[in-house]
Amino acid sequence: MSGELGAIGFIGLGNMGFPMAVRLIDAGHSLVVFDTRPEIVASAVELGAQAASSPRDVADRSETVLASLPSVQASRDVATGPDGVIKGQRVKRFVDLSTVGSTAAQQIQAQLAQRGIAMLDSPVSGGVGGATKGTLALMVSGPREVYDLIAPVLAQLGTPFFVDTKSGAGQTMKLVNNLLAATALATTCEVVVMGVKAGLDPSVMIDVINAGSGATNASRDKFPNSILPRSFDYGFATGLMVKDVRLYLEEAAALGIPSEVAAAVGRLWETVMSEEGAESDFTSAIKPLEAAAGVVVDGRPAG
Ligand code: NAD
Repeated sequence: MSGELGAIGFIGLGNMGFPMAVRLIDAGHSLVVFDTRPEIVASAVELGAQAASSPRDVADRSETVLASLPSVQASRDVATGPDGVIKGQRVKRFVDLSTVGSTAAQQIQAQLAQRGIAMLDSPVSGGVGGATKGTLALMVSGPREVYDLIAPVLAQLGTPFFVDTKSGAGQTMKLVNNLLAATALATTCEVVVMGVKAGLDPSVMIDVINAGSGATNASRDKFPNSILPRSFDYGFATGLMVKDVRLYLEEAAALGIPSEVAAAVGRLWETVMSEEGAESDFTSAIKPLEAAAGVVVDGRPAG
């Protein structure tokens, strides 16, 4: 099935990367994988992947390398570091599925171009559920012919949208999307805490919001699945949400546009990170608000 693309490299087998890699294996692709956590590499090997010893090793063994990494620095290291994809003998194209912002994407693209390696930025939206089910939205930018070549691979992961040929454009699109997601979750947490403090039942509140004009992905998905049951297990770390909001604010500042709402949302997420920790699930955003209000938003059935 890997056909003309041959083996595909995949670096970063985390909450998003692992289920994406599994989908590609299940679709019949031959996968060469690397992660700094040997145990997750072993799990992928059990499912049919081949283990590599470094990003460079992945890029020695595959023409197309995908990556799903947790920080701008990790993407830089993997792509252009001393043992990075840039050193690979076989690689022709690098597809970064991570959210790194347009500035970093453009810098990485320029470095890779010096070695004749094409880059697509292709950040994704849709969470772990979307990565598992293959229903992600992929926001792709870069050379159109590279996109056309690998679009069938990306289609295994969800719906690819070609945003622009300009490097970084997909990243800008992703930051816009995530600022909306960050705002919806922060605001929904704030209003539900307010309602509970006033005596409303949080489950009734979410049902009403979802039947009304206040519904968002936060009320339809995150509250019923991870906040009302108090499982806080959505699969997206607070530190990653803060990364994305900071990147949005940096890009908005660079463009010189107003971002008062984004700034307020950013302050709330910085509080969540300092009080709950970068590793906490981002649905923990409700906890500092609960503490300040002296309430607990518990939607579990009584008894
Ligand atoms: P994660 O922390 O769960 O996974 C990252 C993986 O990368 C880990 O397995 C880690 O061991 C590995 N890693 C870190 N540094 C590495 C390196 N130098 N070399 C090789 N492997 C390395 O993160 P995630 O939630 O899967 O997110 C990945 C990217 O996708 C991030 O940019 C995030 O913003 C974005 N994203 C996440 C979600 C989500 O719901 N989790 C949704 C959309 C987009």
